[in-house]
Amino acid sequence: MTQKLDWETAPIWLWDQGSAPIRPIQHGTDRVDVLVVGAGLAGTATAYYLAENRPDLRVMVVEASQVGLGATGRSTGIIGPGLGMPMRSLRRRYGDDVAAEAFASTLDGAAEIGRLIAAEGIDCDARLERQVIGALTERQERRMRRHTRDLAELGFDVPWWDRSMLDRRLGGAYRAAFAYENVLLVDPYRLVTGLAVAAERRGVRIAERTRVTRLETLPDGVLAHTPGGVIEADRVLLAVDGYGEKLNPHPSSVVPVRTHVVATAPLTAHQRAALGWDGVGGVIDQRNFFSYYRLGAGGRLVFGGGPARVPSGDPQRETRTSAAIFERVVEELHLRFPALEGVAIEACWSGLTGGTLDRLPVVGAVGDNQRVHFAGGWCGHGLSLCVSTAERYARVLAHGRSTASGGSLPWFRSRASGLPAAVRSTGLPVYLRALDAQDRTASRPPTPSAPAAVQIPQADPTSELVSHQGGEDRAA
Ligand SMILES: Cc1cc2nc3c(=O)[nH]c(=O)nc-3n(C[C@H](O)[C@H](O)[C@H](O)COP(=O)(O)OP(=O)(O)OC[C@H]3O[C@@H](n4cnc5c(N)ncnc54)[C@H](O)[C@@H]3O)c2cc1C
Repeated sequence: MTQKLDWETAPIWLWDQGSAPIRPIQHGTDRVDVLVVGAGLAGTATAYYLAENRPDLRVMVVEASQVGLGATGRSTGIIGPGLGMPMRSLRRRYGDDVAAEAFASTLDGAAEIGRLIAAEGIDCDARLERQVIGALTERQERRMRRHTRDLAELGFDVPWWDRSMLDRRLGGAYRAAFAYENVLLVDPYRLVTGLAVAAERRGVRIAERTRVTRLETLPDGVLAHTPGGVIEADRVLLAVDGYGEKLNPHPSSVVPVRTHVVATAPLTAHQRAALGWDGVGGVIDQRNFFSYYRLGAGGRLVFGGGPARVPSGDPQRETRTSAAIFERVVEELHLRFPALEGVAIEACWSGLTGGTLDRLPVVGAVGDNQRVHFAGGWCGHGLSLCVSTAERYARVLAHGRSTASGGSLPWFRSRASGLPAAVRSTGLPVYLRALDAQDRTASRPPTPSAPAAVQIPQADPTSELVSHQGGEDRAA
């Protein structure tokens, strides 16, 4: 399988990279202690920690395309705290101690990524800034106030911005806002590829362009079948998140969802001054399908949003749907920043992440099989969670212990509630459309203006980059 990187579908992060190393395809028979399937941030970080904790183990990562070309390298690289499940629900369902530990683990993940970047000398354009959460409506503000009250009661103080801060930093575009400080912004592709190189330095083997097609559990291990051979492993971690397709062991509970991002041409100093935003950090609103943005990749505005979609499996339909959503994202961008109406949109891309019903990940042995494990369903909050989870779960995999070793965090579980296939294929798309309709009627950004006609680069349906199937959720 050849990787084709069309500029229309490749994330902007790949533009400034030069060529990433191409690793060998797996063939023949390999024998390893731990096999990690999927080289996004979750798989790469787990392999890294495994090699760090147990240099004696043979650890191999097998990636269907290339390192980082799943959701990780297509993300916007805002490494903020938080989970998909609202804090109120976490507290009610699991109690305050667990809720506090859960939130703290997302802060730990972000701090740990900073430590890894420094320790391994990963050049990924990392900046320590902030993540601003802005309310467009009274309802959103109420929800945010509940959230920060819950955090405060658990000991995490997140101050609100006053009117003058809102005006100075966001140009008055939101009715209210708070910010998580010390949030890392990175080039996510360089982060994950840098971490892969660091894992290799510690002895991890990585094969690319090798899809694991089937797993066979044997009495004394697992046989992973690939197009060119087999890998015998004592235990396997499926770090495939929204891209698992047939290998997703939780098809009813970890559902792939596609989300979309666009990037402008590099902004001039004049254009940046006209934004009415100070350009610091990542900003996200509170709609069901929120808009979020940051500056990066050579001074471009990277802007994500629009309705999330469950992939149809039909490449032509996917291309049509994505083209319409890209139009919509550009419209949102112009509503937020009317001054950018004449600025070229240089790239549009999408990515798949795994969402779950309760908006918490699923990390653990698959059912009763202690040899096959899964880590995914990050519900769009993956970057920090992937790493805090990888650090903990590598210890489980290193010693072959049961999932109980994950501690009290509620996403260390062998299964999660799911939806029947019929509801997933018909009910879920209808539900997503209803959420979108609610966004359209209830909460448009202020300062609307008529969007100019835009030239959207069309995704090439033959590209490997758009042939993935998978999903996404909320990012703050
Ligand atoms: C557009 C977008 C923007 C986002 N922005 C942010 C953000 O700003 N902040 C944030 O925290 N999160 C963000 N996210 C979410 C975040 O990117 C993900 O949660 C996270 O990267 C998931 O990492 P992962 O390693 O689990 O999965 P992935 O990075 O998707 O990696 C899974 C890998 O598994 C491989 N694979 C699948 N099946 C097989 C197989 N059978 N054999 C071999 N390999 C296989 C795939 O090719 C893929 O490379 C965003 C996501 C998207 C799509």
